[in-house]
Amino acid sequence: MAFDLDGIGMTSRRTRERLVRRLEKSGIRDSAVLDAMAGVPRHIFIDEALAHRAYEDSALPIGLGQTISQPFIVALMTSTLLDVPRKRILEIGTGSGYQTAVLSSITSKVEKVFSIERLEPLIPRAKKRLRALKITNVRIKHADGYNGWPEEALFDGILVTAAPRLIPEELLCQLTPGGRLVAPVGEGDTQELRVYDRPSKGENGDFVVTTVNRVRFVPLVKGIK
Ligand code: SAH
Repeated sequence: MAFDLDGIGMTSRRTRERLVRRLEKSGIRDSAVLDAMAGVPRHIFIDEALAHRAYEDSALPIGLGQTISQPFIVALMTSTLLDVPRKRILEIGTGSGYQTAVLSSITSKVEKVFSIERLEPLIPRAKKRLRALKITNVRIKHADGYNGWPEEALFDGILVTAAPRLIPEELLCQLTPGGRLVAPVGEGDTQELRVYDRPSKGENGDFVVTTVNRVRFVPLVKGIK
């Protein structure tokens, strides 16, 4: 299947740029993130039947009960993670591959993205989209994100795109000193988007945890399928 990368009408670059202007008005200031979102065609990451809604600021179904996150939340999470350049990024929950594409396009800050998805059928689709966009600095694996990616750890940044009840210790252990993890945490309607900062080398103390926003994500589920 070939992708209509350019799009027309509701899927055109102009429509996408209108969304990016709205994100800017909603408080997203990071120009690297805004540029990446202006560049990545979100409409190829969702079903063709829904492609005309790709540049509304809403989450949309991607099959198997999962969703592609709302653009504002993608922008907020990406800019929160990339407050400073972070070379090696681990993403938990590849889903459609859209967030992966946005992260890996920010080459001024990011070198490589490692992404984990527990639902096997989503992976070939995500890979095909990234290939169509000529994105090569990404590795995707079928595994349970609760374990992180020990063979590739440590990571400078970790982005979790599904909500655990509590942050898995294993993920915090795979952060470099000075590294940052961004994740939705909690159940149902009561999730919070949280930031976990690991102290830099030579700094004493524990992780610093801050809350950014209230959010609603699909749950982080144990085991693979
Ligand atoms: N970043 C995605 C959002 C997908 S929704 C996008 O841009 O489209 C969250 C994804 O997390 C789903 O695909 C879900 O299957 C996946 N997920 C849930 N629990 C997981 C786990 N334990 N390990 C890896 N992926 C998981």
